[in-house]
Amino acid sequence: MSNADAKKALFHRDLSYDYPLIVRGEGIYLYDETGKRYIDGAAGASNVTLGHGRQRIADAMAEQAKTLAYCFATHFTTQPALDLAGRVSAIAPGDLNHAYFVSGGSEGIETAIKIARQYHVQRGNGQKHQVIARWRGYHGATLGALGVTGIPGMRDLFAPLLPNFPHIAPCYPYRCVFAGCEGKCNLTCAYELEQMILQTGPDNVAAFVAEPLVLGGVAAAIPPKDYYPLVREICDKYDVLFIADEIITGFGRSGRYFAIEHWDVIPDMIVFGKAASSGYAPLSGVIIRDSIRDTFAAGGTPFAHVFTYVNNPIAMRVGLEVLDIIEEEGILEHTAQMGAYLLEKASALDAHPSVGEIRGLGLILGIELVRDKDTKEPFPASLGFHKRLNKILLDKGLSVGSGGGTADWVNGDDLRFYPPLIITRSQIDNVIATIDEGLTQLE
Ligand code: PLP
Repeated sequence: MSNADAKKALFHRDLSYDYPLIVRGEGIYLYDETGKRYIDGAAGASNVTLGHGRQRIADAMAEQAKTLAYCFATHFTTQPALDLAGRVSAIAPGDLNHAYFVSGGSEGIETAIKIARQYHVQRGNGQKHQVIARWRGYHGATLGALGVTGIPGMRDLFAPLLPNFPHIAPCYPYRCVFAGCEGKCNLTCAYELEQMILQTGPDNVAAFVAEPLVLGGVAAAIPPKDYYPLVREICDKYDVLFIADEIITGFGRSGRYFAIEHWDVIPDMIVFGKAASSGYAPLSGVIIRDSIRDTFAAGGTPFAHVFTYVNNPIAMRVGLEVLDIIEEEGILEHTAQMGAYLLEKASALDAHPSVGEIRGLGLILGIELVRDKDTKEPFPASLGFHKRLNKILLDKGLSVGSGGGTADWVNGDDLRFYPPLIITRSQIDNVIATIDEGLTQLE
C-alpha cells in the first residue's frame, strides 16, 4: 500500500490535516521524513520528559520483554511491579503509600473515581457517588473521565453519554469570575466547592478532582498559596476525598515530584501518568493513602475493577528506569532551574500587544493571548490567531502544546510550552526567540 493510501487507512483526529511524518527522535528534537528538525516543545503529549532516543530505557524494555512480557494482575504479581510500587510510594508525599498501575491517564482517573466510590460504600456511606470537578479542567477522554472534564468543546457532543457530575469555577486568577475578588483574592472559588458540596448534599459527594494548576483548559493557571489548604479543609469537613490529577505535573514537571507539594497539601489520591514512563510505554496509576488501603483491606472485598494491562511488566520496568534517571541526572533540580530561567526569558514577550499574561511553574509555560491587553478581550475563535501562530512556529521548527479552541467557558486562549525536562539554556533562548518572531509576524 502506498503511503498516500496508508494515510487514508489511518483514522486521524483531524482528517483535513496532513500530519508531518516523524521518523526519529533525539533529545528534545523530532525529525520528519524530509530531515526537517522540530523542537518538541510539547514533549510529545507532555510525557517525553527525559527526551527521545534514550538507549538505556530501550535496553531495559527489551530485556524485560525477553524475560517476561506479560502476566495477568488478577492471578500473579511480578518483581518489577513490587519494585515500582515501593519506589512510587517513597517519592509520594505523606502517607500516600500504595500504587495501582494502569496504562493511560483516563484509565487512572476512572480508577480513582471507582476507588473513591468503593471506599465510601465499604465505610457504610453507600449514597456517596458524586464527583465534583472544575470547569476548564481536563481529566481524560473516556466517558467517566470526560464526565469530570470541564471543557465544553470536548464534552458537548457526548453530553448525553456522560455522568452528571457537578462542576465549579477553576482557580484562574487572570480571569477570575467572582465579584469581590478584583485586585485581592478572597478564595471565593475554593468556597464554591463548599457551596457545591452543600447543594449536592454532603451524603452524596464522594470526591473532588482537580489538576493542581489547570493545564487542560488553560495553560498553567496557578492558584494562590492558600487555595489547596482550604480545599483540603473543606474536603475533610464533609468526608470528601481529594483526588489530585497530576497526569501532566507528576514525576517532575513542576520541579518537584508532584506539583501539589508546592502547596504543602496531601491529597487522598494522586493520579499520575505521562512522565512516569517518559512516553516509552503506556504507564499511569493512582497513589493511595494508608486510610483508603486500610478500608479496602478491612472490608475484605476485592477492588471491583481491572484492566488487561494493570501492572504490565514492560511498563513497570520503564517506570523503574525513569526514576533512576531522574535521580542520577538531578532532573528535579534541573527542571526548577530551567523553569526559572524560562520564565525570566519569556517575560520579554510581555512587550507584545497580543500577550496578556505569562505564567509558569517548573517547565510549564503558559502565555495568555489577547486581542486587547487592557480589557483582556480574547481573540475571537473565528480569527484563528492561535492556530495561525502554531503553524508559523511549526514552520520555524518549533512544535508547542495545543491550547486554544477551548475559549468557551470563560474566554481565553493561550500558547503552551512544556518541553522535555532536559532542555538547556541555549535551547530555551532559541525557543523564546522563535516565539518572539512568530508573534511579531502575526501582529
Ligand atoms: N488528566 C490530565 C491533566 C491530562 O493532561 C490528560 C491527558 O492529557 C489526562 C488526564 C488523560 O490522560 P490520557 O490521555 O493518557 O488518557
